[in-house]
Amino acid sequence: MPSDTPLLPMYDVIVIGGGNAAMTAALTARETGASVLVLESAPIEWRGGNSVHTRNIRCMHDQPEDVLTEAYPEEEFWQDLKKVTAGKTNEALARLLIRLSASCRDWMKKYGVNFQPSLSGTLHLSRTNAFFMGGGKALINAYFRSAQQLGITVLYETPVDRMEFNGSTFVAAHSGNRRFAGRACVVASGGFESNITWQREAWGQNQWGEWTADNFLIRGTRYNMGVALKQMLDQGADVIGDPTQSHCVAIDARAPLFDGGISTRNDCVSLGVMVNKNAVRFYDEGEDFWPKRYAIWGRLVASQPNQIGYAIIDSKAIGRFMPSVFEPIKANSLKELAVALKLDVDTFLKTIDEFNRACVPGDFDHSVLDNCYTQGLTPPKTHWARPIDTVPFYSYGLRPGITFTYLGVKVNEHAQVYFGGQPSRNLFAAGELMAGNVLGQGYTAGVGMTIGTVFGRIAGASADKAVQASANVKKGEAHASD
Ligand SMILES: Cc1cc2nc3c(=O)[nH]c(=O)nc-3n(C[C@H](O)[C@H](O)[C@H](O)COP(=O)(O)OP(=O)(O)OC[C@H]3O[C@@H](n4cnc5c(N)ncnc54)[C@H](O)[C@@H]3O)c2cc1C
Repeated sequence: MPSDTPLLPMYDVIVIGGGNAAMTAALTARETGASVLVLESAPIEWRGGNSVHTRNIRCMHDQPEDVLTEAYPEEEFWQDLKKVTAGKTNEALARLLIRLSASCRDWMKKYGVNFQPSLSGTLHLSRTNAFFMGGGKALINAYFRSAQQLGITVLYETPVDRMEFNGSTFVAAHSGNRRFAGRACVVASGGFESNITWQREAWGQNQWGEWTADNFLIRGTRYNMGVALKQMLDQGADVIGDPTQSHCVAIDARAPLFDGGISTRNDCVSLGVMVNKNAVRFYDEGEDFWPKRYAIWGRLVASQPNQIGYAIIDSKAIGRFMPSVFEPIKANSLKELAVALKLDVDTFLKTIDEFNRACVPGDFDHSVLDNCYTQGLTPPKTHWARPIDTVPFYSYGLRPGITFTYLGVKVNEHAQVYFGGQPSRNLFAAGELMAGNVLGQGYTAGVGMTIGTVFGRIAGASADKAVQASANVKKGEAHASD
C-alpha cells in the first residue's frame, strides 16, 4: 500500500453505488447489525443513479393489493419475462425474482417509500406495476434518509476506481488514494451506459464509417461508467450478456447528453411515419401496440445513417399521444416541413405520397390493432395507417436514447458473483450490472426496479451472512490456537 494512503476503519459491508439496488442492499445488511459503508460516485445532489428517473416497480400479486388492481400471478409474470427475453433468462433466478417481488412493497414502505395508483397514459400498468409517490427521486431520498437514521456511512463523490481482490475474494475498494477495506462487498454500480468510449468500442463503426455510439444520448445518470464492472471482469468474473445490448428508446434529438429522463421520450411514431436522413421509411411503424414496440425504435434509429430518424405526423395525431417536453417542428406544407428538417424535398414528398396512396381506408382506432393498413408498400404499416394529409404537419427528430446496458456479471440465487464457475465467498452484485442473468434481452416495464430491489435485498442479506461466517471462522481459529 502506498505510504500516503490514509488508514480507514474496516467495514463489514462495502456497497459500491448509490441507486436503488445499492441502497436496498445497504439497508438490508444493516438490518442484522452489519456496519455498512456506501461509496457513491455522484455528489449528493445527483445521487441515486438511474433510479431517480423511475416511476414504478413490477410486482407479482394473487389478488388486488393496495395500489395494484386484479391479480398478476407468478405464471403470468414468468410468461411475460420469457416472451420479452425470447427465453434468454435463467428460469430459477427469474422465478425467485418474481416470487420475492410480492414482498417488496411492504419492505419498501418500512423505509419510507409510498405508492400511488397507476398513472393513465400510453402504458397501461395498473395491474402489474406499483407507482412510487413522488417518483424515483422520492424513493431514493427516503432510502438515504433511512440510511442516515440507521447509522450507515455514505461517502459522496467517491468513485471506486479500483477493486482489490485475493482471487475471487473481495479485499478492498479504492477511490483515488483512499482504500476502503471490507469483509464483504456488494457491487451495485449500474451498467456502463455513460461510458461513451466503451460504447464506441462495443458498437464500432457502421457501413458508412460512422461511430454509431457518438450519436447516443444517455437517458439517465452520467456516473454509470462501468468501472467496478470492468474491475470484476478483468479479475475473471464470469460475464453475462453482450456489450451492444441495451434498453434503447428513440428520444428527442434535442435531449441533453445525460439525465434527460422520461420527459424526452416520444410516443407519436405509431400515429404517423418515420423517415431517416435520406427521407425514406425503414420499419413498420404500426407493427404492434406502442408499449410493446417503443423499446425497439432506439436500436432501429441507431442502425440508420447519422443515427437519426424523423417522426412525421399531421394534425389528426395531435392529442392522441403524451407530448414530450419539446415542441415539434411545425409546417403548413410537406415541402416546408422537408426544408425545415433539411431533408431532400423530392424524396420526402415521394415517400409521403407513396405512403398516402398505399393506405387502405378502415376504422381508425388507436386502442386496438385496427384495420387501417398499407397495401403494396415496403416496409408496410400494419395498423393505424392513415394518409398524412391534414395541415399543419409536425415532426420530431429522434435519436437512440440508452436507458441501461445489459452486460454484467453472472450471479447465483444468493447474488454471489461467479469466477470460473465458482461463487465468490464475499462478493455480491445487484441491479443493472447483474440484470442480464434474468433479462438476456428485451424489457418489460418496471422490471429494472424489481431486479434491483429483490437482488439488492438478497445481496445485502448474503453479504451480512458472509461477514458472520468469516467471524465464526476467525473465532474457531482463535479457539484452536488457545
Ligand atoms: C429515464 C428512465 C426511466 C426509467 N424508468 C423505470 C421505471 O419506471 N421502472 C423500472 O423498473 N425501471 C426504470 N428504469 C430503469 C431503472 O432506472 C434501472 O433498472 C434501475 O434504476 C437500476 O438500479 P441500479 O441501482 O442497478 O442502478 P442505478 O440506479 O443507476 O445506480 C447506480 C449507482 O452507482 C453509482 N456508481 C456508478 N459507478 C460507480 C463507481 N465506480 N463508484 C461508486 N459509485 C458508482 C452511480 O452514481 C449510481 O448511484 C428507468 C431508467 C431511466 C433512465
